[in-house]
Amino acid sequence: MVDLNRGSALGSSGASELFQLLRDGQPRTRAELAALTGLARSTIAARVETLMALELISPVGDAASTGGRPSSQFALNASARIVLAADLGATHATLAATDLAGVILGEVHEDIDIASGPEAVLGWMVSAARQLLDELGRPHHDLIAIGVGVPGPVQHSTGRPVNPPIMPGWDRFDVPGWVQQHLEVPVLVDNDVNIMALGERAFAWPNTEHLMFVKVATGIGAGVISGGLLQRGAQGIAGDIGHVQVARGAGIPCHCGNRGCLEALASGPAIAKALREAGLDVATSRDVIELVKRGNIEAIQAVRQAGRDIGEVLTAAVSLINPSVIAIGGSMARAGEHLIAGVREIVYTRSMPLATEHLSIVQSSAAENAAVLGASMLAIHHALSPAGVDALSPRA
Ligand SMILES: [Zn+2]
Repeated sequence: MVDLNRGSALGSSGASELFQLLRDGQPRTRAELAALTGLARSTIAARVETLMALELISPVGDAASTGGRPSSQFALNASARIVLAADLGATHATLAATDLAGVILGEVHEDIDIASGPEAVLGWMVSAARQLLDELGRPHHDLIAIGVGVPGPVQHSTGRPVNPPIMPGWDRFDVPGWVQQHLEVPVLVDNDVNIMALGERAFAWPNTEHLMFVKVATGIGAGVISGGLLQRGAQGIAGDIGHVQVARGAGIPCHCGNRGCLEALASGPAIAKALREAGLDVATSRDVIELVKRGNIEAIQAVRQAGRDIGEVLTAAVSLINPSVIAIGGSMARAGEHLIAGVREIVYTRSMPLATEHLSIVQSSAAENAAVLGASMLAIHHALSPAGVDALSPRA
């Protein structure tokens, strides 16, 4: 039974609560909706009409008739509106448009440094958004929310990045407020690893309740889904494992000001630096991956050791959270099984047997799309919530 008192105390028609039942995409008849909600048939008919006017649901063929006229079924009309999903990385940005089921309809890529500041990066995002809507032939009115992932900690309640180490100029910048001056829809902002965890789960592990997504790239961080819910913690920084100290790192300075951090030892740039100091011609993380792919033994050993270092920190995380899946993504995951082999080597030998009995440590399946899919989910979740649906008006 659905709690119909939830969220509708301010004069909502109640259509949004009914809609929450239909969001799963499964077609239902008016009679089934009446049975599920306990509402009168006349009430159901009125609410279905409201949702049809918003085009959020549409009739989908007919239910098997038990005699008499067949009864129409209704389901989510995923193409009715769209959301935008932005993945703003350290040096590269992606903006995608998706339908209400999270299917990507189009995307734009740009090489842009997050360090060029919020107005430059968000300015690109706004003009790319307009371009994308035009290319898809969708009026601006079809856009109902924007989800944005950024490579740093975000205060969840305000959508403002807080002391993000690789995002100069972004500290406490009002991202939603700035974007809404140009695109007047709700803007949801979160840390990139959190949205990657959402995207990975939706894409590959929809029934998994306890999952950690670990991003290994310029930085190292984790998104934690526990009990089926993304865990942001009190300030939005839960899962920020990059600055946990690891034994092998003693004395190595980290850009955060501390020494011996995981990120100073096992991130892409850290591996590149170690190989450079060993005399190899390596400038960037990309060079490391190239060497690994060409079978360079020093590069493979360095990547595997980085995996062990990450495994050391993840062993503690496994004890705390007891996930059943750890998915490893980010640019360094492209180094293939060597990184993951290092993680497994440590986590499987150092954790309690019960914790690893059914623990899969795998490469991200959503890969490059994890962040965009997660940002889309963040936007859809907000836009299709009871309050979000109540705020919608029929299309012109
Ligand atoms: Zn650090």
